[in-house]
Amino acid sequence: MNILVINCGSSSLKFQLIDSDSEQVKAKGLCERIGIDGSRLVYTPAGKDKIVNETPMPDHSKAVSLVLEALTDPENGVISDLSEIGAIGHRVVHGGEKFSTSVVIDDAVLEAVKECNDLAPLHNPANLIGIAACTKLMPGVPQVAVFDTAFHQTMPEKAYLYGLPYRYYTEHKVRRYGFHGTSHSYVSGRTAEILGVPADKLKVIVCHLGNGASVSAVMNGKCVDTSMGLTPLEGMIMGTRSGDMDPAIIEYIANTEKLSLSEVMKVLNKESGVFGLSGGLSSDFRDLEKAYNEGKVEGKRAFEAYSYRVAKYIGAYTAAMNGTDAIVFTAGVGENDPLIRSMICDYLGYLGVSIDEEANKKRGEEVVISTKDSKVSVLVVPTNEELAIARETVRLVGGA
Ligand code: AMP
Repeated sequence: MNILVINCGSSSLKFQLIDSDSEQVKAKGLCERIGIDGSRLVYTPAGKDKIVNETPMPDHSKAVSLVLEALTDPENGVISDLSEIGAIGHRVVHGGEKFSTSVVIDDAVLEAVKECNDLAPLHNPANLIGIAACTKLMPGVPQVAVFDTAFHQTMPEKAYLYGLPYRYYTEHKVRRYGFHGTSHSYVSGRTAEILGVPADKLKVIVCHLGNGASVSAVMNGKCVDTSMGLTPLEGMIMGTRSGDMDPAIIEYIANTEKLSLSEVMKVLNKESGVFGLSGGLSSDFRDLEKAYNEGKVEGKRAFEAYSYRVAKYIGAYTAAMNGTDAIVFTAGVGENDPLIRSMICDYLGYLGVSIDEEANKKRGEEVVISTKDSKVSVLVVPTNEELAIARETVRLVGGA
């Protein structure tokens, strides 16, 4: 069955068409600048060069219709008719406490997702627009919502509650939810397969280090803690997000820099992290690694603070699970940056972690980077959220 996987942002739409039998990607692409001047579709059919179509996209509906035209195009399309799309899987960012697993989308689900909009005001409305556009253009095709938060719903209360007045939780849903759940689920499951140990007998720490970054503790196949919170701002130092900090900084900076609350929040989301620490040099680890290797203080400062924070969380999650069998790196930085992996693992001698520096040189591939006598396995497992969404979609709508 062909599954169309859709990940809608407020002005973007990423897609992949995946054959669920072979799990091969038939085509993929991205619509950028939806609703903004200069919108374009970048479309890549498998085995061919990418095709760029610069054309106005006033809304997501137009974007979806252009994607469907590209997929069925006589020359560069990969299917001859839309009836060859068996189901659609949507990434939905926030499912609150309402969704602990993926679901087939119906009116009740749409209503429940809408009720989570206040928890993810930038993302959930965009996800809903994407679903509506698909319903309009492909009526009758089953659609599935796969939530970024669902995998973390197994966290115990002691891990998800903040030390705040309890009624903030009961009345305003203020708690830790966690994100990147599809990735944490896929990567921890794949780790169990690689190690040849049943997932329900394994303690895994997954380090999803991309532009956004989160670490999770997965015990016996279930998430018991994760570093992101009510929003994705908590936890790691990220590309441009601050991660953990003293909340009193918000008022202090608002007063000293004469900023409004929303301006401070913008700084914490868009101008902080390694970008901020490097004095605005870059949020991209390729640039920072170059700076580090050239001995620039900006690169050193950012890398040292970044890797220290990840190592601290690994220590915390080892304690939470009373040990760990495996530590896994994934996402853009985790998969591709041997220096960051090595700097993090340098802190882990107390766990008996020993890294094979040759294996750790690899970028972007599935590899065990610990030595044979390491007490904890350390792996790189490229994440594949689209494939995980396609699998969930098939699981729910049936593969016939
Ligand atoms: P993601 O959010 O998972 O797509 O990760 C994106 C980030 O991965 C980029 O901003 C880069 O910082 C990082 N990245 C991608 N490729 C490399 C690479 N070859 N070396 C180091 N970092 C990389």
